[in-house]
Amino acid sequence: MITRFAPSPTGPLHLGHAYSALTVWDIAARHGGTALLRIEDTDSTRARPAFEQAIYNDLHWLGLDWPLPVRRQSDHTADYNGVIEQLAKRQLVFPCSCTRRDIQDAGAMPGVEGLVYPGTCRHRTMNDAQPGDAIRLNISAALEQRDRTMTFVELSSGAPIKHHITPDQLINDIGDTVLIRKNTGNPAYHLACAHDDALQRVTHVVRGMDLWAQTPFQVLLQNIIGWRTPQYHHHALITDDSGKRLAKIDKSKALSKYRAEGATPDDIRRMVGFPPSSC
Ligand code: GLU
Repeated sequence: MITRFAPSPTGPLHLGHAYSALTVWDIAARHGGTALLRIEDTDSTRARPAFEQAIYNDLHWLGLDWPLPVRRQSDHTADYNGVIEQLAKRQLVFPCSCTRRDIQDAGAMPGVEGLVYPGTCRHRTMNDAQPGDAIRLNISAALEQRDRTMTFVELSSGAPIKHHITPDQLINDIGDTVLIRKNTGNPAYHLACAHDDALQRVTHVVRGMDLWAQTPFQVLLQNIIGWRTPQYHHHALITDDSGKRLAKIDKSKALSKYRAEGATPDDIRRMVGFPPSSC
């Protein structure tokens, strides 16, 4: 059993991250499995080395440990570009120069992750890609080339629940999603995440419910590229007002601030509903 915690070093870790990390390590321990740490720093406009270092410090302080070396996605751009080349050979991707404004003006409808791309550049081929273009997956073409029923197993409610993803759901709610971002050429989250989950042989993706809507698209990528679909556990999110135990916490406050104010790792565990580490 292999799971992972995959933060983006775009800001300090807060209590929500602590809860997520503790859940990942707890589930790994229950299964006698391994928890990996992965640094998802593909957004070069927002990722900072200082935040990456703070992730290591905060997680070690919480008493968590992980195998080395840590996979840092920005070191592996060639891997993600290799996937794009494969998809280009199968004519499943196209270059796109649309701005947010262009997409709005084309009458795009809202989907689960913002506006659903209206297809303006879908007729273009990779041969006429221009510097700075984004690269999108042609979702209808991808659905035609899928090789199995799209399902994933969700474990968060105790008994495994099988979820079926329908083509309509992907076309209407998600659409032609960006795989390479415009201007920077950085791989987008879905591509790097699904690639690395497969590469690192992750069997259980444990992450917050806020990422639930991202899962169907990642399952489609796994399906068309031939990657195994892991099982998923989307854990609940801690909130400031969800019951007494979590009342009075400031979930946007950096863990390092709690530490500087004298909090212990067990204080943090208690605040997010975990027993002290000695239990
Ligand atoms: N890097 C993502 C984030 O920090 C998490 C990705 C994942 O767990 O799949 O929100």
